[in-house]
Amino acid sequence: MRRLTGIGVSPGIVVGRAVIMIQRAQVLRYQIPPGRMEHEISRLEQSRSRSRQQLADIRESLARRRGRKLASLFDAQFLMLDDPMVIPRAAEIIRNQRVNAEWAVQQVFHELSAVFDEVADPYLRERRGEIADLVGRLNMNLRQGLETPRDLLRELDESSVLIADELTPSLAAQVDWTKVRGFATDAGSRTYHTAILARSLEVPAVVGLHNASRSIEAGQLVVVDGSGNELIVDPSDEVLAGVARHADDRRPAVNVDAERRRPATTADGVRVRLDANIEFPDDLAAARYAGAEGIGLYRSEFLFTSAACDIADEDQQYEIYRGMLAGMAPGSVTIRTFDVDEDQLASYVANRDVSAWAAKEDRGSRQGLRGLRLSLSRPELFQVQLRALLRAAGHGALRIMFPFVSGVEQVRDARRLVTETAAELARRGESVPPVPIGVMIEVPAAAYTADLLAREVDFFTIGTNDLIQYCLAVDRADERVSRLYQPLHPAILRMIVMVRRAAARHRIPVSLCGEMASDPALLALLVGLGLRELSMTPGAIPIAKQVLAEAHSGELRAMARRILRMATVDEIERELFSALARLSHAGE
Ligand code: PEP
Ligand code: MG
Repeated sequence: MRRLTGIGVSPGIVVGRAVIMIQRAQVLRYQIPPGRMEHEISRLEQSRSRSRQQLADIRESLARRRGRKLASLFDAQFLMLDDPMVIPRAAEIIRNQRVNAEWAVQQVFHELSAVFDEVADPYLRERRGEIADLVGRLNMNLRQGLETPRDLLRELDESSVLIADELTPSLAAQVDWTKVRGFATDAGSRTYHTAILARSLEVPAVVGLHNASRSIEAGQLVVVDGSGNELIVDPSDEVLAGVARHADDRRPAVNVDAERRRPATTADGVRVRLDANIEFPDDLAAARYAGAEGIGLYRSEFLFTSAACDIADEDQQYEIYRGMLAGMAPGSVTIRTFDVDEDQLASYVANRDVSAWAAKEDRGSRQGLRGLRLSLSRPELFQVQLRALLRAAGHGALRIMFPFVSGVEQVRDARRLVTETAAELARRGESVPPVPIGVMIEVPAAAYTADLLAREVDFFTIGTNDLIQYCLAVDRADERVSRLYQPLHPAILRMIVMVRRAAARHRIPVSLCGEMASDPALLALLVGLGLRELSMTPGAIPIAKQVLAEAHSGELRAMARRILRMATVDEIERELFSALARLSHAGE
């Protein structure tokens, strides 16, 4: 038995057989039952014959256009296809390790690369590139007919646990979580988007495990303990008995049914608005069920991961927004315009071939061209979304929110586009009701200029997930520095207060939708700091209501005042937890 310690991002404990996914290399490793061994080997053979045919075609066409000499460059790959170190070796790996063909081919690549790396002759070392090319081709042909990782995952047992180097939200969104019981990743931190998803899916998860995906064998029995921050490999009988006991008495911590109907108030009757953060239109049901008053953040960029929506298609987007607004009415729905970066847009463009959006100019490494900045640099994309949103506005209480804003100019430019789009719709005879326009405060520059931004917009939403990482210079997905990702850092608390005051002075509403709000202890502090609107993952809402119902707003304010005078995260944490312990005893 081996225990690996990480960061539990979604509570619960599950046991299952490990399925390994190396997302960076796009390969999945899983154990195949003995009866499927021959099927796996025949897939490998089919991939070899397809690859042989493709190489022959390429060689033929090159010879015709450029001459035999160039065509002979492919001879080496032909020879490799028949080399005992390649296909026969991959078949041996399938038999010995009972793994899938993709993984076996990848192993062959590692073995051959290691040999070539030791060769001094630069000419021979060059051949390593050809092996990579051939392996890529074999893997591509193995994937034929299997469209997505979801198709691969369909073949798995019911009780699988996914162990991955990283799990992007788009892949997480494709996984069939009725079969995959939990997941663990090498990368990640509490606010990593996938962790947010795990919590909404209620799948136990542990992240930040460094090299779990390399040190665990496919098929090994593992326990994901999201509450205990652990991944247990080859658990003892005692541990397994504990997991089974836990599964038996897994009761919700609060009486969800009673809680969800009650509006959120503190013990002394101060109303706090609780909204839901959602990623998919289907999450609306979960938000309503959890008792959300509205949607405080719809991350519309998740449409990029949906096969059902082409983001170039205004009508498809309109239908989705209309359905959400009608489904949540009379509650409001805050739709954040696409928060993607240039690479994400480029890969969407490449896969969908929406060539009109492909940047003509050099895409280079313009890191940070993301959110509203990217939308403003692609007005044709932005206007499709704005038209769809404004057309849907009549069907409910829409608020439009811009992400990743760092200056007043961007807001003015975006508002101008909204006005122009509304005028264009009016010319087409479509009436557009007034729609509140707000911004996310998630870049330190926006927090520092909140008083200036407040004059330009109708509401603020503080996005602490990004605000923390940019203010503290800590990449939220990098597990090496995730300890420094501290929501309770005095700088963060001061910024929140600064933004709240700017909003109050200009009489605009301010909400907070970062992961901080989903944590009941931090939520109590946020209310103490004066926030009255919070948006969180739907599953956190019933517990938030219960915590607030037990707290007195005056005591929360006094606690927040003490905390604002403290210099270190340790002191703040101690004060927060002891104050909350006193509050909960007082309620007994
Ligand atoms: C945030 O930055 O706090 C936020 C809610 O946005 P996202 O997590 O989607 O970046
Ligand atoms: Mg953000």
